[in-house]
Amino acid sequence: MTRDELAARDAADPLGPCRASFRLPDGLIYLDGNSLGALSDGAARRVEKALHAEWGRDLIGSWNTHGWIDLPQRVGDAIGRLIGAEPGQVVCTDSTTVNLYRLLHAALALRTDRSVVVVEADNFPADNYIVQGIRDVFGGAVTLRAVPSTSLVDGLDEDVAVLVASHVNYRSGRLQDMAAITQRAHAVGALTVWDLAHSAGVVPVRLDAAGADLAVGCSYKYLSGGPGAPAFLYVGRELQDKIRPVLQGWMGHAAPFAFEAEYRPADGIRRHLCGTPPVLSMSALEGALEIFDRVSLEAIRAKSAALTQTFLELVEDRAASFGFELQTPRNPSDRGSQIALRHPQGYAIVRALIDREVVGDFRAPDVLRFGFAPLYLRFVDVWDAVDRLVDVMRSEAWAAPAYQQRAAVT
Ligand SMILES: *Cc1c(COP(=O)(O)O)cnc(C)c1O
Repeated sequence: MTRDELAARDAADPLGPCRASFRLPDGLIYLDGNSLGALSDGAARRVEKALHAEWGRDLIGSWNTHGWIDLPQRVGDAIGRLIGAEPGQVVCTDSTTVNLYRLLHAALALRTDRSVVVVEADNFPADNYIVQGIRDVFGGAVTLRAVPSTSLVDGLDEDVAVLVASHVNYRSGRLQDMAAITQRAHAVGALTVWDLAHSAGVVPVRLDAAGADLAVGCSYKYLSGGPGAPAFLYVGRELQDKIRPVLQGWMGHAAPFAFEAEYRPADGIRRHLCGTPPVLSMSALEGALEIFDRVSLEAIRAKSAALTQTFLELVEDRAASFGFELQTPRNPSDRGSQIALRHPQGYAIVRALIDREVVGDFRAPDVLRFGFAPLYLRFVDVWDAVDRLVDVMRSEAWAAPAYQQRAAVT
């Protein structure tokens, strides 16, 4: 493989023109779109409008005239198109972590005769903190069963109320077979809560087709909604009327502006709303989603597989002698859009790369994580990133004292 060959691939790439819709600093190779997606023209324009024409000029009337009141559902449906959910099953609200609390609580309330929550032992820790918190609140009525992400179904039996797992593991990038695992869960009478943080917008998710019950996800990663962009939750149609939300907020009331004394849940997905939506950040997300109307998820997935494969092959070709260990499944159909490499000097290597304008990230204890956002990464970026990785290793640039000190955010 040569850089010229990769440049030719870029020239023929059907997604190549999308890069121009993102505002990336010149020269930067951004392999962290899996953690904070880049700013798009769509997001920037939509925020400008929300700021000036809506908040600035039309003020409170914007709730009606600019449809702020329907924003959580409008954005929810737009996300739903990317995760295989028919309209009316996804709503945009709060953070992934809070939404997980809500839906886990709901799942347990639907399975009061059972006590076990199966969790992915190596899931994003925040997800498991939420499960631990629920266990503590339920005081003995709920127990945890942690299983490795390589064998989720082994944790399933007739005691299990709910399985909580990531569709794509945040560290290894392993992609789960959502349909098969959901089916196995249902076969023992358990419900599923899927976390789509690392698959929404980059892996074609098929919630309805998989028979998924409940799901949560994040919109500042591959969806490029902006830092702290509000998250989403999915409740499959069949469960919608059966769930009474744990957070009974006025925005989820059947008639918020009737100001009734007693809570009555709204029909449908809207009952999961709680308080006033963050209109500015939700508007940014709405604008960020526009680009997905112009491209297919299949094209995104195909390019994602090609980018990760190219990176993998180049690392194995050119950096084989430096002691990296692949933590991501080798088969592209078993992984999301990232490559994780283990190395004892992982943190220092990531820092040295950042100083060479290659931005990846580090996940304790020893993982270098590189995310590949197909809408704005080029094949030559992959070449250049590996080139600089080889340079950092060969020159031992990572050994500089400045790279040994951990920053607050890694
Ligand atoms: C990124 C991520 C989150 C983020 O949760 P926040 O509430 O937005 O901080 C949650 N779960 C997983 C698996 C993630 O990768």
